[in-house]
Amino acid sequence: MTEEKSPLDRLINALSKLPGVGSKTATRLAFFLLNHPEEEAIELAQAIVDIKKKMRHCSVCWNIADSELCIICRDKKRDRSVICVVEQPADLIAIENTGEFRGLYHVLMGTLSPLSGVGPEDLTVKGLLKRLEDGEVKETIIATNPTVEGEATAIYLAKLLKPMGITVSRIAQGLPVGSNLEYADRVTMARSLTARRTID
Ligand code: ZN
Repeated sequence: MTEEKSPLDRLINALSKLPGVGSKTATRLAFFLLNHPEEEAIELAQAIVDIKKKMRHCSVCWNIADSELCIICRDKKRDRSVICVVEQPADLIAIENTGEFRGLYHVLMGTLSPLSGVGPEDLTVKGLLKRLEDGEVKETIIATNPTVEGEATAIYLAKLLKPMGITVSRIAQGLPVGSNLEYADRVTMARSLTARRTID
């Protein structure tokens, strides 16, 4: 018969599975929560339940959403003539935090990676093309990460979109090669966005 684990052990075990959290940090966090006011711990637990139960992907741009459309696609004040293409919802948040971009987004949900067997059909490319059909979008800014896969994806998209008569630009270098947009500081990110270049 296996011995039932205590709630504290279960929490430490669950926390230690989070990225960047080892067993030492997990233990520290668990004791922090144990000694914390009950309502704050419940609020945290509820927030975790809610993101799993209530959040999904926006049916248009694949951003995280709490209903059919995300908060950005719902916003009538956003500039609908420009779409910024990113790899992941976390990259969208990084760009949004700069406050420099007022257009819409499209989340690819990854990058092309022939070595890992990831092709265009595994990303949301089809959905992006559909959004460009009605001619309202004049420019797409490719803001994939400055990695080998991110660059290859940018080139692929430029070849695909330019014949549709859409200006395709790439966020400026300035982000270190191999880095991740998600972790770029606001100023670097904003500069990289305003200094974007058209892909010819
Ligand atoms: Zn959306």
